[in-house]
Amino acid sequence: MRLNLDEFPGNPEVKKSLSLAFDEERFPHAVLLEGSAGSGTGLLSGILAKAAVCLSNDLQPCGCCPGCIKAAAGSHPDMVTLDGDSNPKAFPVDTVRQIRSGAYIRPNEAPRKVYRLQGVQNMSEPSQNALLKILEEPPENVLFLLTAVSAAALLPTIRSRVQIFTLKDSEPGTEGREEAAAIAQAVTAPGEAELLFCTAPLIRDRVQFQKVLAQLFLLFRDAAVLRAGGTSHLFGEPESAASLASKLTRKNLMLLLEETGRAQNALERNANAALLVTAFCAGLRQAAGK
Ligand SMILES: [Zn+2]
Repeated sequence: MRLNLDEFPGNPEVKKSLSLAFDEERFPHAVLLEGSAGSGTGLLSGILAKAAVCLSNDLQPCGCCPGCIKAAAGSHPDMVTLDGDSNPKAFPVDTVRQIRSGAYIRPNEAPRKVYRLQGVQNMSEPSQNALLKILEEPPENVLFLLTAVSAAALLPTIRSRVQIFTLKDSEPGTEGREEAAAIAQAVTAPGEAELLFCTAPLIRDRVQFQKVLAQLFLLFRDAAVLRAGGTSHLFGEPESAASLASKLTRKNLMLLLEETGRAQNALERNANAALLVTAFCAGLRQAAGK
């Protein structure tokens, strides 16, 4: 079994060490992904969570087994997600205690249980202490995936019990911004003609294609954070993100992010640009529910 991080762009070093640990079956039982809102900690934790419940014998997550499908739908019985980024009160002590008792019950259908605790910088000290009791005596077949803006927000005792991976922000710049804004607008247009029109020049210019994809990633990310009630200004034109957030659901926006990450990886692997642009357009429209 191998870890499939194709949908996560950038951060090659972190990806390498996660993949190595996974492939050699020495993946830590508690991981903390540390990084700012733009670094993609939530996206990566989602991929790792899926991999943990994936039933494929080859690449995990495979995206198509019952485990992956339930995980993507948010209905996997062995996966618990608490989102402290969008709700700072997501981790009351009682809830953490419930996790503690639940973690010792065997998984229903996945190889392991997964607890995704996002935005733990918002976890109170009593809740952190309750969590520490589980991390000190980790039950078998349980994976804790924590994300935080900074590991410094956690008690040193927690930090010493988790393996910390620091994600770097992608650097925005301005190249490809205008094109990205046009593509994002075309994604929500009634027909597909606009999208095909504004992506056509990318077929002939791979370097430009990479830049536009990087900008699109930031734009979709801003829109997803906005949609969830947060603030994020990674993309240079806040009005583009606001417009997207008003037209699409958070789920649509997360799918657009995934689609863009996939295209970035495919382009890095030298995929045929013409085929990639076509597939990318179709993928974007589908992700946007068009
Ligand atoms: Zn799978």
